[in-house]
Amino acid sequence: MKSKILRGTAFDGQVRIFIANTTNFVEKAKEIHQTSPVATAALGRVLTATSILGVMLKGERDKITTRINGQGPIGTIIATSDASGNVKGYVTNPQVMVESKTPGKLNVGAAVGKDGEITVIKDLGLKNPYIGNYPLVNGEIGEDLAAYFMYSEQQPSAVGLGVTIEKDYTIKSAGGFILQILPDTDENVAYILEERVKEAGSISKLIENSRDEKEIMNQLLEGLNPKVLEEYEVDYFCDCNRGRFEKALISLGKEEIMTLIEEDHGAELQCHFCNEKYQFSQKELESLMKEATSTDEKL
Ligand SMILES: [Zn+2]
Repeated sequence: MKSKILRGTAFDGQVRIFIANTTNFVEKAKEIHQTSPVATAALGRVLTATSILGVMLKGERDKITTRINGQGPIGTIIATSDASGNVKGYVTNPQVMVESKTPGKLNVGAAVGKDGEITVIKDLGLKNPYIGNYPLVNGEIGEDLAAYFMYSEQQPSAVGLGVTIEKDYTIKSAGGFILQILPDTDENVAYILEERVKEAGSISKLIENSRDEKEIMNQLLEGLNPKVLEEYEVDYFCDCNRGRFEKALISLGKEEIMTLIEEDHGAELQCHFCNEKYQFSQKELESLMKEATSTDEKL
């Protein structure tokens, strides 16, 4: 089954709803990066959230990146999505292991750490991207993103993210929800939503106990008049190509390329997002060098 995001509303349009079942693409990410269970859970949560943030973008060519670093052993987690919710990402230490606090529960907070920030970068096709950040609350991703929304974007939101992994390391379920209260909404709505989210329990349970995303929405917002507006198929997708790596090499400058030629007689670059390798021969490097500027020229 393909990963999906459902967009909807409730309370007569006063609440925006996004519900994602990303079991399929988190499995893909795990295969690509060979992540340990806790790294799979952390990356899976960030990929899910970023894919939803992608779907929230207005412009077709807009892009969004989420970066989290809490000084924990996993290092940095990065995910980037386009406006269709197609997402890619990686973590610095995919094989990270940490002790569980509760048996059977992955300790994402300990792997991520909380001594750092969540940064959200929106590339809306303007001269400069919009960059917002906020200190991490607990490194569990969901609450960190909710705090970012509240204090960096002044957008009250409830965020639930979860990845459950079987004993054989396959993904049992992965997904999440983001509920946002629009401006000028009745104060009671926030209270009712908060209670409802508490009652509903974990998103993993909701996914496991529901046939589809619509049923998750109905369970979460029963009696609050939820409506489906749109459904999106989303995926783990890397759009890297040789041209992008050529540009990266050119931007290194003449001296750096010269070093690669003299010391290695070529170069091999690897994409962080999909592990695809790109080889450049000495000849190719020599022709790229012609397009590069030297440090002297830059000054
Ligand atoms: Zn790639």
